Amino acid sequence: MAVGRVRPTVNQLAAYRPGKAAAQAEQDHDITNAIKLASNENPYSPVSSVVAAIAEAATGVNRYSDHRALDLRGRLANWLEVESTQIAVGCGSVGLLQQLCLTYINPGDEIVYPWPSFEAIPVLVKTMGGIPITPALIDHAFDMDAVAAAVNANTTMVVLATPNNPTGTAVHTDEIRKLLQRIPDDVIVVVDEAYREFAGDDLGDPIKDLLAHHRNVVVSRTFSKAYGLAGLRIGYAVADPEIVQAIDKVLLPFSVNALAQVGALAALDALDEIQEKIDLVLTERERVLNALHAAGWTVPETKANFVYLPIGERTEEVGLELERRGVVIRPFPGDGIRITIGTPAENDRVLSNLNEIIHPLG
Ligand code: PMP
Repeated sequence: MAVGRVRPTVNQLAAYRPGKAAAQAEQDHDITNAIKLASNENPYSPVSSVVAAIAEAATGVNRYSDHRALDLRGRLANWLEVESTQIAVGCGSVGLLQQLCLTYINPGDEIVYPWPSFEAIPVLVKTMGGIPITPALIDHAFDMDAVAAAVNANTTMVVLATPNNPTGTAVHTDEIRKLLQRIPDDVIVVVDEAYREFAGDDLGDPIKDLLAHHRNVVVSRTFSKAYGLAGLRIGYAVADPEIVQAIDKVLLPFSVNALAQVGALAALDALDEIQEKIDLVLTERERVLNALHAAGWTVPETKANFVYLPIGERTEEVGLELERRGVVIRPFPGDGIRITIGTPAENDRVLSNLNEIIHPLG
């Protein structure tokens, strides 16, 4: 007999699948020197001033953190030129997405997000009893007409990850504006910019371009990727104060931990140094893309710190073979493999092993 009465929605849920750790791959395949390029992390350690600030703050963790991370909200507001009442801070940007789902999804509500996209979205939506409506991508990019057409009177939220995970493709704010003009203004539109810093400014800035005219827009960003603080769990959202106030109610107490807050503040003091690391990743992205193109691959245009190879039914076989060779990537069964841009040496291992395992033309 089952222990306890698991809610049917949870019973049916497929758990979120994190990327496999390098140590796990080493154990699974009895190998050494595995590298993890499976979670779109920054390959470089945080800058030293951030590490020092976190280390110093460690002596204070007998105390709870500031639940609302007010210092950080103030700093972000100044930096982004918005009011501090427009800033929410959460346990990673996925924490903010969960707060949004807790706040805006009733059982039976329809939630529109193009698919494939970030794999935590369906977990969070279905947990609330929301019904996923998932317009297909066209050539690995969002079909914004299909997104607009999918919105109806039952829709309470739209989630757009741009750049999108796993495809790396992105939409310009002009396209999001057109969507906003076509849908009711009580539908929350989440613009998930976890990878924004790798995209550059030519996609527009939803905070400047959209928020002033559309109170239903929520822009979420994170310290996990470009800032190299994935393990700390801290992200932020910019939105109308009414939205911030509502989602703050469901912020798990103290889930934005003290070290994360200190680390994020120190990162904002070290933006130039962090940009140097972002530039290293971008240079490598360019080099990897050039090598892939030279080898005959056609890859979706990536604006993020990863590339996607849509190899369809060969995905699992190629993913496993790469893993056996110590290169852990993220397979999306039946569709393709997503490979995070790593250090130059790591990327060389990707390119040489791919070359041995699979030829783009079959
Ligand atoms: N959005 C997207 C599109 C992502 O790929 C990720 C991380 N995989 C996140 C949000 C969440 O990142 P975090 O919670 O670390 O901020």
